[in-house]
Amino acid sequence: MNVILEVNDLQKTFGAVVAAKDINVTISEHETIGVIGANGAGKTTFVNMVTGYMKPTAGQIKFLGQDILGLQPRDITCRGISRSFQVPQVFMSETVFENLLMAYAIFEDTGLDMLKPIMSEERTARVDDHLNRYQIADYRNAIASTLPQGVRKLLDIAMAAVRSPKLLMLDEPTSGISVEEKFPLMDIIMDALKQENTTVLFIEHDMEIVERYVARVLAFYQGEVVCDAPTEEAMVDEKVRKFVIGEEYHRTRIERVAEDSADA
Ligand code: ATP
Repeated sequence: MNVILEVNDLQKTFGAVVAAKDINVTISEHETIGVIGANGAGKTTFVNMVTGYMKPTAGQIKFLGQDILGLQPRDITCRGISRSFQVPQVFMSETVFENLLMAYAIFEDTGLDMLKPIMSEERTARVDDHLNRYQIADYRNAIASTLPQGVRKLLDIAMAAVRSPKLLMLDEPTSGISVEEKFPLMDIIMDALKQENTTVLFIEHDMEIVERYVARVLAFYQGEVVCDAPTEEAMVDEKVRKFVIGEEYHRTRIERVAEDSADA
């Protein structure tokens, strides 16, 4: 698999707080990666540094072989890394269709194009395709502020994905989503991203989501990556058990795995 992101010896300090320490991570095309860790472990700092929202104190970040350290978030997005935030960044007073239309216009229109009307037949068709891919076409004309949280999350992620980014970094895609909604929502997101050949990395506290949807786990503790391993291995890793998932989750997981193999 082709390497797309290379992070070397990344550091970030805030006064005495070490938010990132000696982070070395390589990500290849088509991977699905879960970033886990307790509150304050450094997960968001990592994503902020890769996406240009925060400047590292030291280290190197290469995307598609090019140095992207110090670039503005917009430039990094243009090179192929998009992200979503924990709180959906949508235009609350606009409809679902208008939100996506604007996301497409921001992506596609440069220079004098910006003076043209943003709506065209071709663009409307692209927006409608995108609405179908993310299964939110039924809400096409609904105002974003009136949407159920799950639909708003889907809209937000659909907007982050209009560029068909090579790498998409999501911050807790299931936060604020009910237990019944979380798997259907993740199925839609992961299917859509697979269709677009997007490599996906997401921060997640819900270990059921991590176990079900990612092949590789990066576990953070006090600014360091304490485990970088295939999900099955990471879930039984001593540091992950101690610093991230806790012994209770580990015990119930062992019971669940035993029940599943007894049923098989
Ligand atoms: P959470 O799961 O709560 O979002 P996290 O793993 O994403 O946590 P970070 O937000 O990356 O953790 O924070 C890592 C450490 O850096 C924490 O101690 C946090 O207080 C500190 N930190 C993050 N941003 C800043 C900032 N702008 N100024 C000062 N300290 C910060």
